Amino acid sequence: MFLIFLGPPGSGKGTQAKFLEAELNLVHLSTGDLLRSVVKEGTQIGKQAKVYMDKGELVPDNLIVDLIKTQMESTRSKNGYLLDGFPRTLGQVEMLEQMLSKTNRTIDRVIKFSLSEETLIKRLTGRLVCSVCGANFNTFFNPPKKKGLCDNCGGSLEKRGDDQAEIVRKRLEVYNQQSQPVEEYYRKQRKLMEVNASQTLQKTLAALKELIARDVSKSARGKSR
Ligand code: AMP
Repeated sequence: MFLIFLGPPGSGKGTQAKFLEAELNLVHLSTGDLLRSVVKEGTQIGKQAKVYMDKGELVPDNLIVDLIKTQMESTRSKNGYLLDGFPRTLGQVEMLEQMLSKTNRTIDRVIKFSLSEETLIKRLTGRLVCSVCGANFNTFFNPPKKKGLCDNCGGSLEKRGDDQAEIVRKRLEVYNQQSQPVEEYYRKQRKLMEVNASQTLQKTLAALKELIARDVSKSARGKSR
């Protein structure tokens, strides 16, 4: 199965993908996570990418596609992939299709995470991430018991550099300009489904499972014909 999670920053794609990857036995590939790790390692790609990420802009397509290709080659998956935050431009859609056509594969389903801009802004500007275990908290919706410290491991909580209010606004603007055409593209292909991502984590997860299960049973019926 080849699934894509699409949606603006802060819509919870990454969190839900982490819940689902083991259950569906898919490899979760997040371009945001991959980029943050190359930035942390200080590689050549990381240094180039950081310039764009710090401004809330998209990293150029050629860098992203190299990153995804390398990662797919090193994590060959029998069951498939869950792509999170990729493709984000029509150029990336085209490059992904070229990559997949070489192995006779196609995208099965694209799930769009929908929620209001007001909620997105609170989710991003309030987000705190544990520097030790990576757990997420939020000053508006899920504050830690002790200010600045992780409930799970006591590690210090940090704000992501690109979650500052001004950069958040830029990231949302970039999403509307460059990633909405990707939604339209998959909608026309009848591959796009939407999930209401303003619900609680558990309710959103249940809704996602239902959407995916519907798809799995449909493709099983198709194969038995
Ligand atoms: P995310 O964690 O998915 O919100 O990504 C954080 C930042 O990484 C974005 O604001 C972009 O600068 C960059 N980024 C992540 N994925 C992509 C992508 N597919 N194409 C271009 N830039 C990306």
